[in-house]
Amino acid sequence: METDATRMCALLVGLPDVNVLGVVDDDPGEPLEVHIETTAVTVGCSGCGTRARVKDRRPVALVDLPAFGRPARLVWHKRRWCCPEPDCATGSWTETNPKIAGPRAKLTDRAGRRVTRQVGGEARAVAEVARELRCDWHTVMDAVIAYGTPLIDDPERIGPVAALGLDETLFRKTGQFRTKEWATSIVGVNTPTQLLDMIEGRTAKPATEWIEKRPESWRTGVVWGALDMSGPYRKTFTDALPKARQVADRFHVCQAANRKVDECRRRIQTETLGHRGRKDDPLYRGRRLFTKAHERLDEAGEAKLMGFLEAGDPKGELRLIWHAKEALRGFYELGDPVTAESFLDDLIDDATDDCQPIEVRSLGKMLATWRAQILNWHHARISNGPTESANNLIKKVKRVAFGFRRFAHYRIRALLYAGRPNWALLETLTPR
Ligand SMILES: [Zn+2]
Repeated sequence: METDATRMCALLVGLPDVNVLGVVDDDPGEPLEVHIETTAVTVGCSGCGTRARVKDRRPVALVDLPAFGRPARLVWHKRRWCCPEPDCATGSWTETNPKIAGPRAKLTDRAGRRVTRQVGGEARAVAEVARELRCDWHTVMDAVIAYGTPLIDDPERIGPVAALGLDETLFRKTGQFRTKEWATSIVGVNTPTQLLDMIEGRTAKPATEWIEKRPESWRTGVVWGALDMSGPYRKTFTDALPKARQVADRFHVCQAANRKVDECRRRIQTETLGHRGRKDDPLYRGRRLFTKAHERLDEAGEAKLMGFLEAGDPKGELRLIWHAKEALRGFYELGDPVTAESFLDDLIDDATDDCQPIEVRSLGKMLATWRAQILNWHHARISNGPTESANNLIKKVKRVAFGFRRFAHYRIRALLYAGRPNWALLETLTPR
C-alpha cells in the first residue's frame, strides 16, 4: 500500500511525469480543482542548447474526466522558459506536453479521447457529456472533431467494397417553410454495412466526384451499385462506375409500392367521403394495416384489414393496389432469378393494364422503368435494405443531437457512429 502523500496524489491523478501541487475544494457545487506541474526541471534551449531558466508560470485550467464521480479541472501550472544566453534569438517559450493536453485544447488529452468515444462511438448527446464534465457544448464538440477527424480520415477505414449504395438522407429542415436540405450517404453494402461518407446535396455531381476520387483499383472492385429509385444516383453509377451492375434497393422498391397504397387510400377517401381522413373513417383507421407486410398481421389484424376494405373501398381499388404491393413483396421471396423475371414481367403486364386504378398503373410504370435494376436484386443478393440499415444508424445520431446546424458536425458524428472507424487508433492518434 502506498502511504506517501505525494505519491498517493500522483497515483490518483494518473498522469506520467506530473507532480500534484494541491487540490482546491472551495465549493462542493463547483468542479474539483487539481493543481499540477510537470516534473521537467531542466530543459535545454531549442536554439542554442543552453540550460533554460524558468521565467514564470501560468496556470491553465483544463476540463478533465470526473474524479470519483465529481466534475474536475486539471490546473496545469505551465512553466514559461527563457534562454539566459544574451546572444540567442530564441527568447522565451511555454512548455508543452501532449500527454496532458494539446497546445490549444480546453480538455485534457485523456478527456478528449474519452468524449470522442462517447459521442462518436456510443452516440451520446454532446450536451449530456458536456453536462457531466460541467463544460461548454463547443468544448466537447471541438474535442470530438480534433480526435474524430483522424479516425474518419484514416485511409484504411475504407476497404474494398463489392457493392456500393447511394441513398438520400434528410439533413435538416430550415427556415419558415421548413425547407428540406438533403445529404447523400455513400454506403458499403458489404456485410456488415458501413457508412463510407456523407456529402451535401442529393444530386448526381458530388456523388460522382466522390467516386472518381477513389483509386482506380477500388473503383474496379465495385461490382454492384445499389440505388434507391432516383434518377440522379442512377446517373452517378452510369457515369462513375459504368461497369458496376445497378441494383434497386429492396427496401426502396417496397417503400415506393407503399407510397402508392397511401396515395390510393387518400384518393378513395376523398372520393367516397368528400374530406380528408378523420379518426373514425375506415380507410383512415386502416392506414397502417394496408402498408404492413401481410404475413406480419395476426388473425385479428387480418379481420380488421378486411373489414376496413369492406367498409371504405366500394370499387375494390385499394384492394387492387394492396394486392400489387403484396405481389411485389412476394417477388423478393422467390429463390430463382428466372422465375423472378417472369413473375415481375407478369406483374408489370397486369399492373399497366388500362382497367387498373391509376396508382396501380403508376406502380407498374415505375417497375417497368426500373425493371433491370429490380431484377438484378436476384443476382446480387444484396442484403435486405442495406443502405437503409446505415440510414437507421444515422437517424439514431440525429435523434440524440436534436438536429444539426452544421453539416460538418453531422458528417463526423454519422461517420464515427456508422462508418466503422478503427477505434483502436483512438489511443494512439495525434489530435487535429
Ligand atoms: Zn538559447
